[in-house]
Amino acid sequence: MLGILYKSLSIKTRNPLSKMYRTHTCGELRTTDFDKEITLSGWVQTIRKFGSITFVDLRDRYGLTQLLFSESLNEKLDANPLGREFVLQVKGKVNARSNKNANIPTGDIEILVSEFSILNRSALPPFTIQDDTDGGDDIRMKYRFLDLRRNAVKKNIELRYAVNRAARNYLHQHNFIDIETPFLIKSTPEGARDFVVPSRMNPGQFYALPQSPQTFKQLLMVSGYDRYYQIVKCFRDEDLRADRQPEFTQIDCEMAFVEQEDILQMFEGMVKYIFKEVKDLDYNLPVQRMTWEDAMWNYGNDKPDIRFDMKLTNLKFPNTIFQSRKKASEVSPAGFPNAIGIEGGTGFPVFDNAETVLAIAVPGCSDYSRKQTDELIDWVKRPQIGMGGLAFIKYNVDNTLKSSFDKFFTAEKLKSLAEKCHANPGDLILILAGKEERTRKAISDLRLYMADRLGMRNPEEFKLLWVTDFPLFEYDNESNRWVARHHPFTSPKPDHIEVMINNDPSIADADNYLQHPYANIKANAYDMVLNGNEVGGGSIRIYQRDLQEKMFAALGMSREESQHKFGFLLGAFEYGAPPHGGIAYGFDRLCAIIGGSETIRDFIAFPKNNSGRDVMMDAPSTIDDKQFDELQIKLDLK
Ligand code: ASP
Repeated sequence: MLGILYKSLSIKTRNPLSKMYRTHTCGELRTTDFDKEITLSGWVQTIRKFGSITFVDLRDRYGLTQLLFSESLNEKLDANPLGREFVLQVKGKVNARSNKNANIPTGDIEILVSEFSILNRSALPPFTIQDDTDGGDDIRMKYRFLDLRRNAVKKNIELRYAVNRAARNYLHQHNFIDIETPFLIKSTPEGARDFVVPSRMNPGQFYALPQSPQTFKQLLMVSGYDRYYQIVKCFRDEDLRADRQPEFTQIDCEMAFVEQEDILQMFEGMVKYIFKEVKDLDYNLPVQRMTWEDAMWNYGNDKPDIRFDMKLTNLKFPNTIFQSRKKASEVSPAGFPNAIGIEGGTGFPVFDNAETVLAIAVPGCSDYSRKQTDELIDWVKRPQIGMGGLAFIKYNVDNTLKSSFDKFFTAEKLKSLAEKCHANPGDLILILAGKEERTRKAISDLRLYMADRLGMRNPEEFKLLWVTDFPLFEYDNESNRWVARHHPFTSPKPDHIEVMINNDPSIADADNYLQHPYANIKANAYDMVLNGNEVGGGSIRIYQRDLQEKMFAALGMSREESQHKFGFLLGAFEYGAPPHGGIAYGFDRLCAIIGGSETIRDFIAFPKNNSGRDVMMDAPSTIDDKQFDELQIKLDLK
């Protein structure tokens, strides 16, 4: 794959330049170039002196070439000693290399140097600029311009460009046009916090940096640009959980005159195209689809990793989010695992008293030792997981069963339980019991943890999934109101609109918010999930003023507030807004996953650290008094 990437990126510098620094790149010369007189320019990676000769590895963006300084030049070298990362220009002849290096493409040749010139010197670099560097994270971030010289980082930056180019090609082929939208906009916080920028020309007033171009792309639909895209920076002032960046990039798209199906097809096509271009990987379309309820029911998670199976078994019926299933269970109770009698009481208080009991059957682990099961128990008890304990059943290969709660279960009951968990001989069944939300989150984390332990999450395997039919609202305990799960411009499913309009959003009992009709309203919203990561998300939008106003009201916004914040959009909806919808991909994350990494920072040229700092330029920083004066702002930190 990288071969293709490098080839397409290679710059030919053979044409004589006014000042010819190089005839070739450091990754280019082969045995077919023997005896050619060439000029190279690059950075000194290593220097090895052997008596009267010196070897230098010269590096540029394209690779490494070995230089040989013979006896006659060594004296000159002694007078002008080279150091690591010096910028060097050499002229010489391409020679066969006696000690071949099969690890690099130029490993069969070397340059017999006839002339050299030091174009610039370098201070001693703070870490070695090689694949396996001795530099820790912090020092590499501080000297990111040096880190970027390393092959390992360069590969990621090139991959990012390849993904960017493929996305643009595809979108261009499908009539999308790239339209830039402003970075200095109105602050309308909904969801994340805005970054704000004071306006000197309008003292006391502030712009916000866009969290996404959402309202602009919708306005562009009203303007008739029916296929828009942008690969664009977005800004969110969030507390940075691991692997988030305050500024990140989206492939942001919007289409008019479309339904959900049109969007899903268009964008699974884009991802297929990207994988073909960048990884030479063929996807069979359509991408698998799963409703949000199915994802939660089977995986405990709305972005399931489907590279492996290990689905959950709901041993005790949760009384909350699965409303439609509850109805189904009333019709056909036998369809649910609770039919084994666990609902009616097992005599095992941990199960009987719990709101939810969830299990996974982990293949090939029935022979886990006491030490290994203890490890798992400790793992679920860690504060991040927060469970009180873990029950397990070993379904041994000889068909016998052994559990951590044997004294409460007869052999037949245990067997029946194991079968309900779709377990096979050789499986270790892990069971968590507790409060619904926490238990579901814990079992879904445990599922991933076990898959990691068992090597079932191969970074070179890419499994895509659409998750659809998300809830429209989410209850926010802090502000004690409904918030939009996606954003307030997402349309409800057509037959749920009445439920939204005809019910008062206020909640009498915050503990039982799931009983409120709003909890069951589903949205025309969809996420694309890749290997257990949400890489894209979007929705079909509301495009009628009155429905949009009702949506704002459902979110607890007064008429004045919605007019103040979104009057421009509501107004635009009065002038012939077409039906429309869109999606945005998290570009950094998509690149990281395609690059086989979990860390988006590795795919951003100049990333921030976990405290949102750019440690290289030392930002954020204080500003001059003069700047405060111009802004007419006085700093009075609380
Ligand atoms: N603007 C949305 C987001 O950033 C994506 C979309 O609905 O198109 O999540």
